Amino acid sequence: MTMQNVGRPTRPEDAQPLDGGFASLTGGRGLLQDEALIFERDGWNKTGVDLPEAELDASDLGDLVRQAPIGLPGLSEPEAMRHYVRLSQKNHAIDLALYPLGSCTMKHNPRLNEKMARLPGFADLHPLAPGATVQGALALMDRLAHWLKTLTGMPAVALSPKAGAHGELCGLLAIRAAHEARGDAARRRVLVPTSAHGTNPATAAFVGYSVTEIAQTEDGRVDLADLAAKLGPDVAAIMVTNPNTCGLFERDIIEIARLTHEAGAYFYCDGANFNAIVGRVRPGDLGVDAMHINLHKTFSTPHGGGGPGAGPVVLSEALAPFAPAPWVVHGSDGLRLVEETVAEAAQGFGRMSAFHGQMGMFVRAYAYMRSHGSDGLRQVAEDAVLNANYIKARLSGVMTPAFPNGPCMHEALFDDAWLEGTGVTTLDFAKAMIDEGFHPMTMYFPLVVHGAMLIEPTETESKQELDRFCDALEALARAAKAGDADRFKGAPHLAPMRRLDETLAARKPRLTWKPPEGVAPAPLAAE
Ligand SMILES: *Cc1c(COP(=O)(O)O)cnc(C)c1O
Repeated sequence: MTMQNVGRPTRPEDAQPLDGGFASLTGGRGLLQDEALIFERDGWNKTGVDLPEAELDASDLGDLVRQAPIGLPGLSEPEAMRHYVRLSQKNHAIDLALYPLGSCTMKHNPRLNEKMARLPGFADLHPLAPGATVQGALALMDRLAHWLKTLTGMPAVALSPKAGAHGELCGLLAIRAAHEARGDAARRRVLVPTSAHGTNPATAAFVGYSVTEIAQTEDGRVDLADLAAKLGPDVAAIMVTNPNTCGLFERDIIEIARLTHEAGAYFYCDGANFNAIVGRVRPGDLGVDAMHINLHKTFSTPHGGGGPGAGPVVLSEALAPFAPAPWVVHGSDGLRLVEETVAEAAQGFGRMSAFHGQMGMFVRAYAYMRSHGSDGLRQVAEDAVLNANYIKARLSGVMTPAFPNGPCMHEALFDDAWLEGTGVTTLDFAKAMIDEGFHPMTMYFPLVVHGAMLIEPTETESKQELDRFCDALEALARAAKAGDADRFKGAPHLAPMRRLDETLAARKPRLTWKPPEGVAPAPLAAE
């Protein structure tokens, strides 16, 4: 088996021999050492720092005074540094190789944006600094708001939501406030297509609505007849993703908006896939009333690992009065934030968060927009769609596209029909990709496609890189069809960790470490 194409040596957990039967004596591999947990490395009886004895007034602490040693690992600075760098080398990263996750976008974050976000004038601001001292930051928020409104063709934007899901909550709260302002409190249902991201029904439920599913057509779009049948005077909103999670543009979107408005409901659009249409289509022209934009998916900013993100929500004329505070306005003596729900903000539903949102994300997104320009942003969408269709075309010979007719948008979706009879599942196939140096694609989502494999290359991958990726998947697909199931069942063979019980890890994460019997001292923090 070959090494990863990004040149990272990895160690099989059970020290399986490499080609030729060679296994290292230490579990190390190439230049990468086997790595224990920081608590398991030696150093219990030493300390990595030399601090003066603290003059502690124990009387203030009462019975909270520590009775036992603190239980921190005693590594020296170089030991600690090496530990973390070695760990980082066992991880996959956006800067190491293409990772084809669908519905996640950004595969590269330009360094320029990182540099801008670290400018002390932005990075060191305190959120309570007086407005007169942060005019530059307010100007940046104002310009970012202008770009978001221009790109979406919507008159208002709430910048403060801190993720896509938070933006959904913001949009539905604005929708609920709009219905209530009209005295229309009878609307209790939100319609969501079967292919929706899980956050859509979760958000609707969180706001107190019940969720009704809208069926999907054979070709992966909202079933208009089913939508029309389910709309009624008790429906508050529909939540539709466009392009949808099957990577397809909702062809009937204008009719969807018309039917929704006719029934007195609002159209929430999940804008996580805005990168596929930015600069080409303005959601405001399609009849959308509210849409979140995941800055961390469409306008750079690193994402993953739980944040930070930013999910500004653009709002239509009808919903704009209900926008949450704060927002930037031009006053007689400069820019200021509208913070209170009085005067021009009297109908606002409140706030989404303390302060104004994720400033660092705003700076990155604005730098990204300015460095691309309007023509560049349009090209982002065009190249993202072109790259996804290249992958769809190249892999359709060996894998089965979920929706073979017509082109896709920014991501290519395959089902597992082509694996039938091989004994290999989508999960096995994805794990085998790790041995070839590629992060797996999004698996088993959307749920409406059996054994789904959702691949999103984005605009930043070159043809050479796409070809390398497709070559690897083609070779794996042939191996699967040739009956080499063992290679897949045991995969990944070369990763630092093999098959993990991911469900157990997610449901019952073990967040503290307990020393094995006889190892002293016990860290006080355990449990
Ligand atoms: C990512 C995503 C979300 C949620 O966004 P977060 O920023 O992760 O909260 C919602 N819908 C779709 C389609 C997504 O891809």
